[in-house]
Amino acid sequence: MKPQQQAYPPQQQQDYPPAPDYNAQPAPTPPYHAGNTTVVVTAPVFYGSFPITTVCNNCHENVTTVVTHEIGSGSWLLCLVLFLFTGMCCFLPFCISSMQDHVHTCPKCQHTIATKRLM
Ligand SMILES: [Zn+2]
Repeated sequence: MKPQQQAYPPQQQQDYPPAPDYNAQPAPTPPYHAGNTTVVVTAPVFYGSFPITTVCNNCHENVTTVVTHEIGSGSWLLCLVLFLFTGMCCFLPFCISSMQDHVHTCPKCQHTIATKRLM
């Protein structure tokens, strides 16, 4: 058996190209259009089933919302589920306000400020 030659040539060190110069001049930032608009960041308001005091986004008055109830898609879905599981009581979503959508309106301009959907 002929002894195999194990003389591999020594690994050549690869010559990596020189790293790009990261100290190149940074691109000038485009002028920022600040303008005179004032952005008011307000905390997120939770619109539930009760009236809340907030600023109307239509008349910009500090108002306490008027909550009305509307039959929404969630009410219809509840109606269907109740009908399938009980065969009755499917009218409940139309009688119980907590099973309906809550619409918050401004008492001054009647603008709909927010709608809390059941689903
Ligand atoms: Zn308003």
